[in-house]
Amino acid sequence: MTGITLSGGVVCDLSGGTVDRRDVHVAGDRFGGDGGTVVDVSGCLVTGGLICAHHHLYSGLARGMPGPHDPPRNFIEILERVWWRLDRALGPETISLSARIGALEAALAGTTTIVDHHASPESIEGSLDLVAGGISDSGLRGVVCYEVTDRHGEERGTAGVSENVRFIQTNDRPLIRGMVGGHASFTIGDTTMEAMVAAARDLGAPLHIHVAEDAADEKDSLDKYGLRTAHRLAGRGALVEGDLIAHGVHLDDSEIEAVRASGAFVAHNPRSNMNNGVGYAPVLKLGQRVALGTDGIDGDMLAEAKACYLKAREASGETGVDFPIQRLVQGQILAGSLFGEPAMGRLSAGAPADLVVLDYRAPTPLDEGNLAGHLIFGTPKVRDVMVAGRWVVRDGKHTEVDEEELRAKCREVAPKLWKRMEEF
Ligand SMILES: [Zn+2]
Repeated sequence: MTGITLSGGVVCDLSGGTVDRRDVHVAGDRFGGDGGTVVDVSGCLVTGGLICAHHHLYSGLARGMPGPHDPPRNFIEILERVWWRLDRALGPETISLSARIGALEAALAGTTTIVDHHASPESIEGSLDLVAGGISDSGLRGVVCYEVTDRHGEERGTAGVSENVRFIQTNDRPLIRGMVGGHASFTIGDTTMEAMVAAARDLGAPLHIHVAEDAADEKDSLDKYGLRTAHRLAGRGALVEGDLIAHGVHLDDSEIEAVRASGAFVAHNPRSNMNNGVGYAPVLKLGQRVALGTDGIDGDMLAEAKACYLKAREASGETGVDFPIQRLVQGQILAGSLFGEPAMGRLSAGAPADLVVLDYRAPTPLDEGNLAGHLIFGTPKVRDVMVAGRWVVRDGKHTEVDEEELRAKCREVAPKLWKRMEEF
């Protein structure tokens, strides 16, 4: 097997916290071996692949979209007037195109794994294959799910469950996995919730669901079930080890305790939370298992880490530059859990060969003690990206996707999608 050797760079193992000058060897889809083609990475940092723990690739054609005539005043109105109209306007072509452009941009930003949460209520069956195909086109790892919801009736709630099951049972893409998705407690009644949880547990697939993003989710759960959201979910078996909850902004102390005790992961999305004005998640209380997601804004995890840092600093002086970097590491641990690869993110022999080469000429000394400061305050530029031993980005260009052609197609189709939203 011909290998690859990255030579001359500064190797930064984020989870090990080590920084050293050494060669990185790749053999097949894993680190290890020696020799092979030498790639000069001098002047660069080499890190493990970055993970987006919560994305909505379906928003890939939404950038620059005109706002609704009647501007939303709160979170529920943002959903009703923007995202729940966009998702209904999606059909096979736009689901695929959104995923392809979102995955391409994530790859160019150094993201090697996208954990996606998909919705297209008018085009449910088969949608996850379109999303998975879009991610695969960019050569990335992906974990997809369909967000189950009763907001268009229980029949479509059931169709959402079926789509998750169908995908998990039929998917054979080596770099793609499935989860069972749920929109949020406030749009899932008990009948659909039961079916969703049963499907996940029968298949041994983790759940991926929004929890307490806005106070409205808590109010709904208290009004209808007499329980706060996380307690409702836990009581129905929807919060167990390996599950993934997004946001958790309005969790109270008793729910935080339940989340921590469950061993579930939390995806923190600081830019989205600020954009929607929903508040700040209790990230310090939530403990170690907090990873970072973009919630559909883009696929740029270094941008999200910077926002995470600034928001945390503003909220309390207790956190330093290591805090957002540790969140990126938790993303790698989450991806490791989803792919059954405990060494994911490490740059050691035997680990999956997912890495990012960052062009970064440090203006001051860089070592183990201050790497986080360089990543958060510097502007490292993504030069190359490798997933499972294959280059997907070289010198800032995707190796397989015709970027200009894809962007041109998106610019042609997006206005038609925006127009179609007026029907809903
Ligand atoms: Zn989300």
